[in-house]
Amino acid sequence: MSQIDYSAILKTGAYYNGVWHTTAKTYPIINPANGQTVAEVAYCGAAEAKSAVDSAENALSSWQAMTAKMRSNLLKKWFDLIIKNQSALAALLVTEQGKPLSEGMGEVLYAASFVEWFAEEAKRIYGDVIPSHKGDARIMVLKQPVGVIAAITPWNFPLAMLTRKIAPALAAGCTAVIKPSEETPLSAHALVHLAQEAGIPEGVLNVVSGNAPEIGQVFTSDKRVRKISFTGSTKTGKYLYSQCAETMKKMSLELGGNAAFIVFDDADIDAAIAGAMASKFRNTGQTCVCVNRFFIHDSVYEKFVTGLATEVNKLIVGDAFTPNVTQGPLINEMALAKVKRHVEDALNKGARALTGAKQPNLGGTYFEPTVLADAHIDMEMSQEETFGPIAACYRFTDEDDVIKQANATDFGLSSYFYTRDVGRAWRVAEALECGMIAVNEGMLSTEIAPFGGIKDSGLGREGSKYGIEEYLNIKYVLMGGI
Ligand code: ADP
Repeated sequence: MSQIDYSAILKTGAYYNGVWHTTAKTYPIINPANGQTVAEVAYCGAAEAKSAVDSAENALSSWQAMTAKMRSNLLKKWFDLIIKNQSALAALLVTEQGKPLSEGMGEVLYAASFVEWFAEEAKRIYGDVIPSHKGDARIMVLKQPVGVIAAITPWNFPLAMLTRKIAPALAAGCTAVIKPSEETPLSAHALVHLAQEAGIPEGVLNVVSGNAPEIGQVFTSDKRVRKISFTGSTKTGKYLYSQCAETMKKMSLELGGNAAFIVFDDADIDAAIAGAMASKFRNTGQTCVCVNRFFIHDSVYEKFVTGLATEVNKLIVGDAFTPNVTQGPLINEMALAKVKRHVEDALNKGARALTGAKQPNLGGTYFEPTVLADAHIDMEMSQEETFGPIAACYRFTDEDDVIKQANATDFGLSSYFYTRDVGRAWRVAEALECGMIAVNEGMLSTEIAPFGGIKDSGLGREGSKYGIEEYLNIKYVLMGGI
């Protein structure tokens, strides 16, 4: 149980027009570590979603009219308050999401980093003057906020996925309506509360959760919402994309991945194992950039898989607040069922379990971190993201062939590979079909680099100097008669 008091940031209502609202119906937030109810939260539907959009629309013109520096200063205050409340935010996050406390503390910093970064970027939204095609005219390019935006976020990084969208939106001069995951709304509510404390004006930030399809329908059909930024499953992302066609919204979609991790024969194997641990087991394997397929060169295969299993055996599964625990529970029963199905299917088709492959005696949704050797492409987990602590290791012998295998998926989010050959590093980085590549590194997420995918992994980029462009329209002004 948490010893950290988060009551000061615990908000269970819906927030719009600068006020926390209750609803007749509520729904329970469950701690995945023990199945207990953490809080009852307002269950919103279409009416509340519409009120939230009204609120964002009403606040838009005055928020846009502020100077970039004023918006920047408010974002900086928000950043300071997030940092000041790091422990309470982490405790809340751990309680509703289940990640270990150390990872929760890390996520708060990661989430705050987007607010800091975009507080700075707010002041650097430059336009352009283009050499004219006519002597008596000038061509200018202005960048303007798109307007009201809606952010729909998942449960695996409830804080960071939100600030990655909201901070650039607010910096650009947009106002926002948020729909966090129904599994983890309390983290989002706490962030909104801190934004309010920081002095971000009424209506600029609004949050509703509850009936996701109903709220989503309001967001996608309302003309005043000019952009939707979504992080979640490819299925929901494609559905929302199709729903937005009618009102021609700008979209950012950060969807599923099926990341490959390739270890070439010339790799530093110890470094590759360390990278594999970092990229596979964070948040109990529940991140969209988590490796789903390990491709290991035949000549280093046994060394890698046995070394990986040795490291995996050092992981400690348990309640996320217990010191030293590195692996919390999976988010819910459905997630556990998928992990079990994938492992069973792999074992039935000839995979070798080097460690794990079962639930520990803790009850709940825990699953032991697992290394499976002799994986092959007929297994279900080759095509479908497992989203759990399973490292499935495939064997390869040829560079061209492994690139083909790595690319043989509809997804294209991230990939990782280990080699000490510079030529190969360039060749493979260019050939892999995805939005992000880490060479000789196991973790690539940072607020200063563009995060996003290609193919079925989505559209648009978050973070970095590119992230703010997603919230801006380009306007061309031809100034004649000069
Ligand atoms: P996951 O499998 O990661 O939960 P989802 O795509 O189901 O992925 O959920 C991601 C986010 O999308 C959550 O906030 C969820 O409530 C929301 N969501 C799911 N279905 C819809 C929908 N029809 N309209 C709007 N939001 C939705």
